[in-house]
Amino acid sequence: CWKCGRSIEPDMEQYFCVCGVVQPPLEHRSFFQIFGIKEDFDIDLKYLNEKYRKLQVILHPDKYSQKSDTERGFSERHSSLVNEAYNTLLKPLSRGLYILHLKGEDLEKEVQVETEFLGEIMELNESVIEAEDINALRSIETSTNKIVNNLIDEISHNFKDKNTNSAKENLLKLKYLLNVAEKIQ
Ligand SMILES: [Zn+2]
Repeated sequence: CWKCGRSIEPDMEQYFCVCGVVQPPLEHRSFFQIFGIKEDFDIDLKYLNEKYRKLQVILHPDKYSQKSDTERGFSERHSSLVNEAYNTLLKPLSRGLYILHLKGEDLEKEVQVETEFLGEIMELNESVIEAEDINALRSIETSTNKIVNNLIDEISHNFKDKNTNSAKENLLKLKYLLNVAEKIQ
């Protein structure tokens, strides 16, 4: 502990010393460790949300307005790290990309999707532009969501099978599809 000098176990969930003082963020902690969850593409979103709310309450800088500058500074860093970690882990695309990043991989490196898939995306985009009413858009949205959900399932299997290349390819596909979904919105 920076304040009382007690030694603190490098536990992944330890934010406070037994003396009650907030500890500095450990920079090497992954976003998964911040929430005390296993590094995995499949996560329990309900647990993530609950844990996020809890951490925001105990680490929020407003709670440290009467404390020392050091403690307030630590709480600010914790808070912004917790926010960044939450936003990254919440969505399948950013969560998948983050797992790749932990493995030293990223989408820009040697990954391509089949021309056939790109053709499908082009067609989807055209149908969005040409949709004449809200019902037409809704039906495109339904089929897009279905492909998105199938892809997320596949990505989950890819990570389970440690098939990084397929995970990369499917994450890139997901990125394309989420662009279409955004266009529909
Ligand atoms: Zn202490």
